[in-house]
Amino acid sequence: MIGSADGRGRKQASLRHLLLLLSAAVPALALERFEAVEPAMGTLFRIVVHAESAILARQGFDAAFARARALDQQLSDYRADSELNRLCRSGRAQVSKDLFEVLRIAIDIASSSGGAFDPTLGSFTHLWRESRQTGRLPSPEILAEARRRTGWRRVKLDARTRTVHLLATGMQLDLGGIAKGFAADEMLAVLRQLALPQALVAASGDIALGDAPPGLRGWSVEVAGRSRILANRGVSTSGPQEQFAMIGGRRYAHIVDPHNGIGLTNAETVGVIANTATLADALATAGFVLDGAQARRLARRWKAVCLRGPATMEVEQTK
Ligand code: ADP
Ligand code: MG
Repeated sequence: MIGSADGRGRKQASLRHLLLLLSAAVPALALERFEAVEPAMGTLFRIVVHAESAILARQGFDAAFARARALDQQLSDYRADSELNRLCRSGRAQVSKDLFEVLRIAIDIASSSGGAFDPTLGSFTHLWRESRQTGRLPSPEILAEARRRTGWRRVKLDARTRTVHLLATGMQLDLGGIAKGFAADEMLAVLRQLALPQALVAASGDIALGDAPPGLRGWSVEVAGRSRILANRGVSTSGPQEQFAMIGGRRYAHIVDPHNGIGLTNAETVGVIANTATLADALATAGFVLDGAQARRLARRWKAVCLRGPATMEVEQTK
């Protein structure tokens, strides 16, 4: 019996040897770089993947962009029929896993940033959108009324039933400071499930980086004027360069001061590197409201890095 087991072992070993020889003889298919851009969430989403064929890359792009469109339908405060806006109209609802998860993280960051990042500032941000069109700031009375409908402490989340309760009447949620990062993470997850882990998803300044491109240490990313090589991270930039309103000769950013609802006038850009793009997105928005030391402290609490600078955001792969 012992002898026959030995014989089987030898046979298996030589079979393994043969397979090894064969796999060495057939070279692994070389990965090629593919890129696609599509509009979603009011911006352009760019995907880069390294795939064995254009067909596999196309499958990845289609599935990832479909995920972005589905998330937009859930999280948008622009679409009257989004799940988010239906929740705002009813004041209390059981919500989808995605909406609950984004709100949970958003409220966590609101709490740890002392409300610098606050997903309940929709009444303010909608006024800001009007100001951008008209070139006039809202009156103090209108701002005071809008302020009564804000406040992250007045959002109650019940994880067991996935129910959200908005305690302020007329509260308008706005996930504009976190939803693009979340979508980028989710799209990267879709690509990974389709065996395309060497990918990046960039929703303008909110970027989810997957595994490094073949033969490289990572993706080369410009964060607040400094170049970094990164993989499996989220990177985000918040600043006045993308959207701003010129009112009375001043340049107002689309990030509002949670105390008075007026767009901030800081000229600097805030860049954050975090474990996910969701975190990076929200922490960069918070970092824009906070001063440098507060922003760095907040980032550290979330195992992230916060940088300030004049920069633009560029991502490319380099050696
Ligand atoms: P971008 O949308 O250009 O990536 P941000 O991630 O900084 O920039 O998000 C800005 C958006 O977040 C605004 O357009 C608005 O919808 C929302 N917002 C504005 N101020 C705040 C704030 N203090 N906290 C949370 N969200 C905010
Ligand atoms: Mg943000």
